[in-house]
Amino acid sequence: MNPWTLEPLNPRIPEPLIVALLTLILTLIYLPSPLLSQRHPAHEWHLLYLNVRDRLIPKEEAKTRLGELEPLLKDAYLQTLKSNDDERLYFPLKGYTSDSIGGKRGSGYQVQGYDFFDGNQHKGHPGHDIFIRDRDQDGLDDLTGRPVAVVSASPGIVVSVNINWEPSSPVRGGNYIWVYHPTKSRYYYYAHLKEVSVRIGQRVAGGDRLGTVGRTGVNAYLRRSPTHLHFTVHESKEGYPKPVNPYNELVKGSFFLK
Ligand SMILES: [Zn+2]
Repeated sequence: MNPWTLEPLNPRIPEPLIVALLTLILTLIYLPSPLLSQRHPAHEWHLLYLNVRDRLIPKEEAKTRLGELEPLLKDAYLQTLKSNDDERLYFPLKGYTSDSIGGKRGSGYQVQGYDFFDGNQHKGHPGHDIFIRDRDQDGLDDLTGRPVAVVSASPGIVVSVNINWEPSSPVRGGNYIWVYHPTKSRYYYYAHLKEVSVRIGQRVAGGDRLGTVGRTGVNAYLRRSPTHLHFTVHESKEGYPKPVNPYNELVKGSFFLK
């Protein structure tokens, strides 16, 4: 055969093979996504929380799903557990103590009418506001001229973050972080941050940097609001997170600053 005259390639593929390929493609398209992607349960938690926050899911359905996710998070957490679980609560603002907690002896904690599943529309104030020295509201510490670090009060897995909050957003927490501590069945919520320096699925230890204090969120953004971190602790039983008052733990935590 003359090597300069190429034979056209034969494009014939056996028909049974085409049928098999089409079946495989269609199966992959219609397969439920968790089977395909094997997402980390922290990502599942984040997606579920967006639906809770924006009230796009019935409460019972969300509670059931949360109850299914918590054991998965616990498994993932225990697999990566390297050292002992630190039990003490770290004060979440670097360079500050419990003297900076708003109200009189933690009176800012108001749990009446609050329900986790009310999401962004929730009533009450089931946490503490911890204020920084920022008279000019530039988000920097007036004494040091530097941002104030938010540190993790507890070990755990980052299960949700919100970044790039804009004043047009209706999200009250602004840039926030949720950390789940599976062995204590606790959720820690940090709100109104400027910068968020952790990602979903990341394992954190108590005292690890999470980001910096900011003024993000519908109310925290307004001039009348002094610059603060909003800090809430929930304890979850079978997927129903209920707030607990961490005031006494925060007072003790002031002595464990790194
Ligand atoms: Zn608050």
